[in-house]
Amino acid sequence: MNSRRELFLEEMGLTPLWRLKSTQAHVQAEEQEVANQPGAADAAPVERTSPQGEAGAEDRVERIERMDWAELKPAVVACTACGLRKSCSRTVFGVGDEHADWLLVGEAPGAEEDVRGEPFVGQAGKLLDGMLAGIGLERGKNVYIANVLKCRPPGNRNPEHGEVAQCAPFLARQLELIRPRLILAMGRFACQTLLATDASIASLRGRLHRYRGVPLIVTYHPAYLLRTLPDKAKAWEDLCFARRTMAELPPCTR
Ligand code: URA
Repeated sequence: MNSRRELFLEEMGLTPLWRLKSTQAHVQAEEQEVANQPGAADAAPVERTSPQGEAGAEDRVERIERMDWAELKPAVVACTACGLRKSCSRTVFGVGDEHADWLLVGEAPGAEEDVRGEPFVGQAGKLLDGMLAGIGLERGKNVYIANVLKCRPPGNRNPEHGEVAQCAPFLARQLELIRPRLILAMGRFACQTLLATDASIASLRGRLHRYRGVPLIVTYHPAYLLRTLPDKAKAWEDLCFARRTMAELPPCTR
């Protein structure tokens, strides 16, 4: 087994290394912290989210749809369309290769992301980096990482319907600009927002979906995986499926 694979399997809790590391006290401390992270509540029911704006918001959505990177980034910083900008420290736009083949979408910034301005830099991010390594990928190299919400919900509560609706056009525009070859939607907010469905992750996994024509694969959120060990094996299956799907896609015509 090569070291990247080992690193990933260790992070995914699929080797004895995980168990050695995970003393009971360690597990309990981690669980406390992880339970509060965005994405940790994958198994709980969620209100249906839709990227549709309210009446009068159409102009705003059309403006966002025409933005290039240089316009989009400050527009996110300046956005006050929902209340979250007031309570967060800074916006978390997204990070990585703006021409990436892979687009990974999470839920919303957590405490650490809110301080550093980069998605997935906390504990869930460490696991995500391990997951990426497991399929031969690295943050920033042919990979772009973004969230549905660009501002941290207070106390890492679940995103609300209106917040998702206001923020979704930014993600949609990021996607149009990146033009990834494959999207990995992590956690139910990302999956349900992009696929405009109420369906559970369990029912969406293992199939190839499409978002605006781009192949999309559904998997569990890393924060959820940190506290739900049995589903890590399923996430590994999802990643292998994603890697296989990418390998089988017709040659890129971008
Ligand atoms: N969870 C997310 O969904 N996104 C982050 O950036 C961090 C944690």
